[in-house]
Amino acid sequence: MSFASLGLIEPLLRNVQDLNYQTPTPVQAKAIPAVLSGKDVMAAAQTGTGKTAGFALPLLQRLVQHGPAVSSNRARVLVLVPTRELAEQVLQSFVEYGKGLDLRFLAAYGGVSINPQMMTLRKGVDVLVATPGRLLDLNRQNAVQFDQVQTLVLDEADRMLDLGFARELDAVFAALPAQRQTLLFSATFTDDIREMAAGILRAPIDISVSQPNATASRIKQWVVTVDKKNKPDLFMHLVAENHWEHALVFVKTRIGVDYLAAMLDEAGYAVDTIHGDKPQPARLRALERFKTGAVNMLVATDVAARGLDIDDLPLVINVDLPIVAQDYVHRIGRTGRAGASGVAVSLVCADEAPQLAAIEALIRQTLRREEEPGFEAEHRVPQTSATGELIKKPKKPKKPKVPHAALGAAQAPGKKPRPQGGESKRKPAAPGKGASLSSGSPFGAQKPRSKPAGKPAAGPRNPAGKPAGGRGKRQP
Ligand code: AMP
Repeated sequence: MSFASLGLIEPLLRNVQDLNYQTPTPVQAKAIPAVLSGKDVMAAAQTGTGKTAGFALPLLQRLVQHGPAVSSNRARVLVLVPTRELAEQVLQSFVEYGKGLDLRFLAAYGGVSINPQMMTLRKGVDVLVATPGRLLDLNRQNAVQFDQVQTLVLDEADRMLDLGFARELDAVFAALPAQRQTLLFSATFTDDIREMAAGILRAPIDISVSQPNATASRIKQWVVTVDKKNKPDLFMHLVAENHWEHALVFVKTRIGVDYLAAMLDEAGYAVDTIHGDKPQPARLRALERFKTGAVNMLVATDVAARGLDIDDLPLVINVDLPIVAQDYVHRIGRTGRAGASGVAVSLVCADEAPQLAAIEALIRQTLRREEEPGFEAEHRVPQTSATGELIKKPKKPKKPKVPHAALGAAQAPGKKPRPQGGESKRKPAAPGKGASLSSGSPFGAQKPRSKPAGKPAAGPRNPAGKPAGGRGKRQP
């Protein structure tokens, strides 16, 4: 099948050819004719399927072929997205796919000055890509009115609901012309999404290109079980051991992001970070540096999970599992895009077993587990099933409590003694890599069960022989 056979006009075909897109992806093959027909569309398509071109190409064509020129402070196509990064990415797609067409585009999102956005809107824009909050701000200030909107696109609708935009979305829906085309794209279809779809779509064409909620099968995924406090060192060890030179790394907190980035930096990797506290220009710069290869490790919180458009990313490392299971799908959607194969590794500690169970239920598979010699979890991660359950072992009868003072010498009930220091089993890290930092680790220390109070737990040791169980135990 060719793009031409889908009914696209010459300038769009040329642009697609310039981008070296040979054949439409499955979602494009279905969405492009449906959107061109003017009908509403509901599409279950996760990121990486080519969905952006699936709506952008036919909408550009409709903008050229239908409707009056845009008036000042108006938009003809409105694309709602959950994050600033995705807004920029979608804008970029419209610019690339619409090269040579006489159309105006704008991305509007919070966290940056509203004035330049208001200035651009004065002339009117054909396509406005916006996050819901900033769009309503602009509307309240009369910088944009909705009476010329002919198409509304909800991109990554599930993520917008996850991020708590339901109220803002309702306010936008209420303000839009009733007579319009509406396209809804979502990686997952929860009851909330279905309810929203039922409220805003009219006889939609239903497109599903992958099992809803399934992660791309070409992505190799597994988990490595580990104690929370040992995550930073296991991470550095895996990176060095496997010669992982180019990866997107997800961490739960901003402090955790900075901590791992400092470790990578100290070990000689070119690294940058993205998190919510960083100003937008710095986030975009970090993304650009990662895309161009100026840095090869990008450490991010979930704020970055959706908007990143990175081709051929071979590896995603989840140092922490996401709280919301759907974010796992979006995180690993960064790899294995447009047919490429990818790897997604997650470091999982005992506390995260419920999150792991929820993820496995969502993707309908039990993830393969591994243990890294020298980093075996002392706090066992309970077994999980693909139905989302934790398989708890029957409880053993309680032993009488050991008095506090004697705790140091006691072995945790029911546990085998663990080899002290794992370096004998571990291969050495690559030279200059796997270095350690010295201040307190945001990954913390789990409550020691069998260690003397006040003394560091005997965790794995790095090749230099320093305790490697967390920053707090290292020398400044
Ligand atoms: P998306 O799912 O829209 O974020 O697109 C994922 C990636 O696939 C982007 O980097 C696009 O540039 C790329 N892409 C989209 N459509 C095609 C196509 N038909 N052939 C090759 N690459 C594509």
